[in-house]
Amino acid sequence: MTTVTLRPGADLEGFRRAARELVAAGIPASEVAFTTGVMPTLFPDVRCDDAPAISLPRAAHDLIRTVVCHSDPERYALLYTLVWRLARGERHVLDIATDPLVHRLRRMEKSVRRDLHKMHAFVRFRRTEEDGRERFIAWFEPDHHILDATADFFVTRFRALHWSILTPQGSLHWDTETLRHGPPARREDAPASDPFEAGWTGYFESTFNPARLNPTLMRSHMAKKYWKNLPEAQAIPGMVRNAAGRVDEMTERQPAMPVRRDPARAVAAMADQAPATLDALNRLIAAAPPMVEGGTRAVLGEGPLGAAIAFVGEQPGDQEDLQGHPFVGPAGQLFDRALAEAGIDRAETYVTNAVKHFKYVQRGKRRLHQRPDAGEVAHYRWWLKAELDFVSPRLVVALGATAILALTGKALPVNASRGPATLDGRRGYITVHPSYLLRIPDPEEKAKAAAAFRADLERIRDLAA
Ligand code: URA
Repeated sequence: MTTVTLRPGADLEGFRRAARELVAAGIPASEVAFTTGVMPTLFPDVRCDDAPAISLPRAAHDLIRTVVCHSDPERYALLYTLVWRLARGERHVLDIATDPLVHRLRRMEKSVRRDLHKMHAFVRFRRTEEDGRERFIAWFEPDHHILDATADFFVTRFRALHWSILTPQGSLHWDTETLRHGPPARREDAPASDPFEAGWTGYFESTFNPARLNPTLMRSHMAKKYWKNLPEAQAIPGMVRNAAGRVDEMTERQPAMPVRRDPARAVAAMADQAPATLDALNRLIAAAPPMVEGGTRAVLGEGPLGAAIAFVGEQPGDQEDLQGHPFVGPAGQLFDRALAEAGIDRAETYVTNAVKHFKYVQRGKRRLHQRPDAGEVAHYRWWLKAELDFVSPRLVVALGATAILALTGKALPVNASRGPATLDGRRGYITVHPSYLLRIPDPEEKAKAAAAFRADLERIRDLAA
């Protein structure tokens, strides 16, 4: 039996090297034992320094990169079994979902991805001061070895801040330029609270809709094991206990309030924390955790208050997420050109999205756009409405199906509803999303669709004049 010792945690490089050497030496998975320890050993009995790289399908690389983070001590043995089978000619084994090994690895992959998503969403920083300088410290307990895998996310999102994330497995420290890895920490090493917490908890309570109390759904979004580290979760038991009373109170206080049709509006109306300005609303949106998978930073609406036209898209895409502005990627560039051709100055319009975070799944280096589902769109709806209340445009334009859903609550087909419409109780107009034009392969069809889109924009310009 050959024993391979890898570094504790997720030792992707160590595993890759070991797999290469083991395959080159012709050692099957049944004859290898993987362990972890602080002194990684290469296997003196096997050493094969110039072992060639193994050519694996891209899907296998993605799976390996994720599953090495799993906490199961068997992860390396299972992954090496996969590598061995692929290297021995079973090139399509990953396509066989019923294969017991593939099934188990896929479940492990899913569990790691869920853990990553929860860490992105549930890390809560607390503000401290060190030598007169602000530092934000968070405590988190992941299920798997994902700390390193989340580093890019937090660096991108909080590049301008000094922060530390402490976990029982290790810590990350960012000083606006350099990322440092530190030793495991204890919960007591992080501050227990900070002054922002009361405001955040108040905001969380104010967005809770007692008329739609659903503790099971609540737990599926925010499993109980995370509650102890989430300041806002301390409010949940009270919110659940008082929900029935709050609904009665709402109905009594304001009989005309549309509690049934639109409970979120009723809650917003009575919320003490309702933001007084668009800036204040934007600060809340920016601080709130994403409600979609992926979801890094919130991309906020842009444009002047009182703009005559407000355009509502679906959600930020890859480029929007990186640059922090709506409609700046390929669809945004097409949109800019079409606006200019229709004689609309984008700087005088308000441009926003139904969903404020980029929903995606990571596939290797690529982030694949995922359409937000109806529940996610509903979650962001309160923000969109509040935002449009502040901007108060003469005409609201829904670009595509997600915007229609957000503004009407209905999944209406775009082409059948195209044209003037009432959206969110306002004068509105429905048209296609610019990315639809990008996806049309046939040049003639594309030109026709582009002309129809431009005609819509000209009509929009005239209706808003
Ligand atoms: N698509 C959208 O819906 N919104 C953006 O901001 C970019 C692309």
